[in-house]
Amino acid sequence: MTDTWVEEAAGSLFDVDNLPYGVFSRAGEEPRVGVRVGDLVLDVAPVAAAEMLDVHHVFQEPSLNPLMAEGRQVWGSLRTWLTGLLTDETERDLVEPHLVPVADVTLHLPVEVADYVDFYASLEHATNVGRIFRPDAEALLPNWRHLPVGYHGRAGTVVASGTDVVRPAGQRKAPSEDAPTYGPSQRLDIEAELGFVVGTPSALGSRVAVADFADHVFGLVGLNDWSARDLQAWEYVPLGPFLGKSFATSVSHWVTPLEALAAAWVDLPGQDPTPLPYLADGSPRGLDIAVEVEIGGQVVSRPPYSSMYWSPAQMLAHMTVNGASLRTGDLFASGTISGAEREQRGSLLELSWGGREPLADGRTFLEDGDTVTLRYTAPSASGGRLALGEVTGTVVPAV
Ligand code: MN
Repeated sequence: MTDTWVEEAAGSLFDVDNLPYGVFSRAGEEPRVGVRVGDLVLDVAPVAAAEMLDVHHVFQEPSLNPLMAEGRQVWGSLRTWLTGLLTDETERDLVEPHLVPVADVTLHLPVEVADYVDFYASLEHATNVGRIFRPDAEALLPNWRHLPVGYHGRAGTVVASGTDVVRPAGQRKAPSEDAPTYGPSQRLDIEAELGFVVGTPSALGSRVAVADFADHVFGLVGLNDWSARDLQAWEYVPLGPFLGKSFATSVSHWVTPLEALAAAWVDLPGQDPTPLPYLADGSPRGLDIAVEVEIGGQVVSRPPYSSMYWSPAQMLAHMTVNGASLRTGDLFASGTISGAEREQRGSLLELSWGGREPLADGRTFLEDGDTVTLRYTAPSASGGRLALGEVTGTVVPAV
């Protein structure tokens, strides 16, 4: 990799081998696309206009959707162009005036979310949840090793990192109770996940093969699938998650381009039985992304994304195998990332084993005022590490 002239970015988690995209604004100005380098945001629009880029207009938009809709070839050439701007000393005079400290801008939801799907791709998470919710039955349901289980979530309540999360209220009934009651959730939880953002659409009636993943997926976001376990446990049979999930899903401000993660691909842990050909063909792989879960200032878990059973490409192939089309802005998430060890579990449901084993600080589920932050790092092309977008949120009391 050529070194950047942005001295403070060199060797950081946001070096020029990262270059995530986001949407930012400055006081009195409209939101537009920015690229992060070090602790700075490159205001791309004026630079792209000065260099008369064909697609310069995509940087003046209040979401990444127009940029993402341009497709993989444009994503690649823009990345090459941006890398040149930030490494070629002769570009410095043009570019440097458009670098703004990230602390001086407001960051926004980066994507206008089209559809939102959440999967359930961790064997350890699915097994743990099965044991907690259905202690007298097989932990894994018969379909789990044959297809990536998922459900359609609520795109309109996907919010940007930093947005407060109002404790949801709803109907719940513990097995020991005779009748349901209504009130604020007493088992509010997190799910540490990764989200995948679709750029290139697909035609209704067509399928996206495992091997075509990178033609469609633009990048990755950090994602917290806030979950009200008491609402969920009562409502989820037989149609799956609904109000226990739909009140809020937080995503990072920054979208890491898939191209930045070229060094992060790893083999899957192994699939037994071999899935059907539409899921097995095309050599699906996993991603070596380290996750850190912080609650109330304490790191409570470090889930490894590399332990996930189903790959992102398999989730995308499964999501479209019936001919369902993709739209620019579609978001699909991995499901809770949980590793084999207790300190690798990606939800409080698992960390506290259904509320029966409090954490070191005495916590079982989230309290009002708790701030949750998820952080993600991965190997970078230069042999170091890069940070994906972190996602944070604070729980505020039910209304
Ligand atoms: Mn989830």
